[in-house]
Amino acid sequence: ASAHVVVVGGGFGGATAARYLRRYLPEVKITLVEPAQRFYTCPFSNLYLAGLRSWESIGHGFDGLRKLGIEVVHASAEGVDAAARTVRLSNGSTLKWDKLVLSPGVDMQWNKLNGYDEAAAELAPHAWKAGPQTQLLKRQLEAMKDGGTFVMTIPENPFRCPPGPYERAAMVAHYFKQHKPKSKILLLDAKTAFSKQALFMQGWKALYGEMIEWIGQSDDGEVVRVDARKREVETAFGQIHRADVLNVIPPQKAGFIAERAGVSNGSGWVPIKGDTFESAQVQDVFVVGDATIAAPMPKSGFAANTQGKVVAAAIAAQVRGQDLPAASYANTCYSLIGPGYGISVAGVYRAENGKVIEVPGSGGVSPLDGDQRFRQAEARYGEGWYAAITADIWG
Ligand code: FAD
Repeated sequence: ASAHVVVVGGGFGGATAARYLRRYLPEVKITLVEPAQRFYTCPFSNLYLAGLRSWESIGHGFDGLRKLGIEVVHASAEGVDAAARTVRLSNGSTLKWDKLVLSPGVDMQWNKLNGYDEAAAELAPHAWKAGPQTQLLKRQLEAMKDGGTFVMTIPENPFRCPPGPYERAAMVAHYFKQHKPKSKILLLDAKTAFSKQALFMQGWKALYGEMIEWIGQSDDGEVVRVDARKREVETAFGQIHRADVLNVIPPQKAGFIAERAGVSNGSGWVPIKGDTFESAQVQDVFVVGDATIAAPMPKSGFAANTQGKVVAAAIAAQVRGQDLPAASYANTCYSLIGPGYGISVAGVYRAENGKVIEVPGSGGVSPLDGDQRFRQAEARYGEGWYAAITADIWG
């Protein structure tokens, strides 16, 4: 019988893997398991908060993948039996696979931050998975009075999208500047430094003056307790901050199916082989995207997309008994600070001795002395990137 590849998760990594598997292995059956009928992207969800993008414009369906002959099953994977090579679904069925790809993204580590559980997230949204949480945060921002304070708490590394919180701060500032100019934004960070920091701080100041205040770990920015009902947070040294809108981005881990498949380790994340993204612990199970330990690659949609392509090529080579192609990975994270003001960080990666390494001399960040035309061009590149990658994945 011909092979069957099952892909779990129809987000950035999984949908890419399914599409490129179809391209490289036209004769093989491919099934994509994803509960959502429509996938809403975290990329550009901050622009939705700013009022610069509609909700519908960041949603993508699965008809494009179906048209290619990929079977899409709207269910959740509940369990994996690696010895029997099966995956059990929430709709009661069990699929048998020859190769399994997991791209489940992240789950929140409830209660790791004292007081922050699923119920608390209904009052103080994380909005770190695009969906009802993002829409809740937007409604809260819209209901806030002018002169209110928006407080965001930011976790330690590693977490999904290192520049994401700081782009969100800028996009909320854009919204406030238009509609509630007396309001404040307070960022409480468990880290001492962050991605593209100098560029963000320069852009925040240029566009929003003193509206955004960032407090790093060394200045008592680390939040250790959340009271979502009172919209209060407490820092490591006991300082209480009160918010009118509270956005808690909690510590994260690989999506739950990773643990059930036996591919995650004590860190909560998934160790992989750097040249194939096959699990380092379970043969024939491949894992891509945010769930993996792929540093120095960041947890980004762009990274998940290039990892998905490498996995498709690796599985195709294994199924055909061919030599593995040399893996190459890339990433660019664009961030929008205001309309016509974009910045970016880029890198190119390859595998060496089973580890992912950054190619020396590749990538870098936007110049700090970039002029307005440069920032404008990068804002346009960001839009082009979004259109291109979503077409590449779900189009
Ligand atoms: P996801 O894209 O989240 O996909 C996971 C999918 O798996 C989900 O659809 C989920 O429903 C499904 N799933 C989970 N468990 C199961 C299961 N058991 N069974 C079946 N399905 C399951 N990245 C960029 O490159 N550029 C950006 O500008 C950018 N901006 C961002 C802004 C914000 C605010 C945030 C939060 C993130 C941003 N990111 C950005 C990061 C990007 O969203 C993630 O890195 C990317 O989504 C990771 O892809 P993934 O496939 O690992 O997970």
